[in-house]
Amino acid sequence: MEIPAKGWKADEILETLEGYKSDDIDWRSGRTWAYVYDPGAAAEALMKEAFTSFMTENGLDPTAFPSTHRLETELLSMAISHLQGDEDAVGSFTSGGTESIICAVKACRDWARDHRPEITEPEIVLPVSAHASFHKAAHYLDVRTVLTPTDDTTFKAIPEAVDDAISPNTIMVVGSACQYAQGVVDPIAELGRIALDRDVWLHVDGCMGGFLLQFFRQLGRDVEPFDFTVPGVRSISMDFHKYAFAPKGASTVMYTSREYRHYQMYACASWTGYSVINPTVQSTKSGGPLAAAWATLHFIGQDGYTEIARKVADATDRICAGIAAIPDLRVLGKPDMNLASFTSDTVNIFHVIDEMNERGWYVQPQLAYANSPENCHLSINPGSVRWVDDLLGDLAECVEVARSLPSGEVAGQLGPALADLDASTLSPEAYQGMLTMAGIEGGKLPDRMAGINEILNTLPSSLTEQLLISYLNELY
Ligand SMILES: *Cc1c(COP(=O)(O)O)cnc(C)c1O
Repeated sequence: MEIPAKGWKADEILETLEGYKSDDIDWRSGRTWAYVYDPGAAAEALMKEAFTSFMTENGLDPTAFPSTHRLETELLSMAISHLQGDEDAVGSFTSGGTESIICAVKACRDWARDHRPEITEPEIVLPVSAHASFHKAAHYLDVRTVLTPTDDTTFKAIPEAVDDAISPNTIMVVGSACQYAQGVVDPIAELGRIALDRDVWLHVDGCMGGFLLQFFRQLGRDVEPFDFTVPGVRSISMDFHKYAFAPKGASTVMYTSREYRHYQMYACASWTGYSVINPTVQSTKSGGPLAAAWATLHFIGQDGYTEIARKVADATDRICAGIAAIPDLRVLGKPDMNLASFTSDTVNIFHVIDEMNERGWYVQPQLAYANSPENCHLSINPGSVRWVDDLLGDLAECVEVARSLPSGEVAGQLGPALADLDASTLSPEAYQGMLTMAGIEGGKLPDRMAGINEILNTLPSSLTEQLLISYLNELY
């Protein structure tokens, strides 16, 4: 494609763009159980207006755009008070959970360089359930990860295992509230005691749960403490663009003191252009996500969020009970929030997922890792609550269909051969060959993903990671 020689008319452009969406998942139907956090049509219309009215304001320079400074300050103030931080707590607005987590790991790493100068090879201790973005942050920032197991039944971090994994090089330990895979909250208070005892930084990943879990607690549900009231916590990440329902591009990272946030920041005057001062990874920064997040919080309000929490908590209970009643399925752990995952010991769960998606649902596969078996993930939205009975009915039927489908053949043939390969020595061509064997050409995925998921599920994670990178590199 080339840039059009002559500009198009606005309606022609918008119509074409709308057409591009035709194959996207239809999230407004409420039958999508991942990726989208939808507060409904009225909030969506408002968010759009707020977003576009601030689209071009540039948060890069708060002196030129005091509006972005004010929006960020007020958003952070609401976030900190929501998580019961005191007057010393501070934070930053970021583009998403991953950026928040990269910022927290950077702040901790650079704080440790000053305060623990004897550490030359810093490590962060991660339960296997900690989000992938910590691995990404460690990769970008040259920090080592040390993984610890989670409990086989609850999937929560095991405090003793975290304690054992702390070495003289440890700078940070991480707990999640909640973790993505099973929606459970780690024992943050115990991790806090360990962090104080061993003098390491505790980061609480509240990207998924930090916001809505406070409303779950207010409803009287049993939610372990995870916020700034927990001694030992030094930083918390919390996304507005998940269960605060703001549009994408909105998250926060918060610290118990200004001293910690100092280490997150960056300035550069060593070039010929304008002096750069950036609190976070982004430099030029649209005011759109800020204004839209501010608008969302003001539109829904504490009363609205309480009502949403009540609805989705109730739906989650019904979904978990319904899944438990299907003989071939079992829920993993006991979700503390409105996300859940389930697996099967008797039928191929990837077939169940394909069958569900063919029926117009969108449910998400998760590969086996450590003690977490391959499973199907559900994030439960307010707009999906009306579908609970239909979802459960279709699930029971899809399990029956999956029972009759062939399973394990490709993975059985390929798995053992692939498992012996060394991910670090394989050429890009070899990975391309593997993709072709799995039925993927030119980045195009087959309609049914069970075969590919089965293969990925049997591979060591390092091989899976290289395969996914090769796939993505072909896709664009
Ligand atoms: C989604 C998520 C993240 C990463 O956030 P992004 O906004 O996708 O970058 C981190 N931690 C948890 C628990 C999450 O659910």
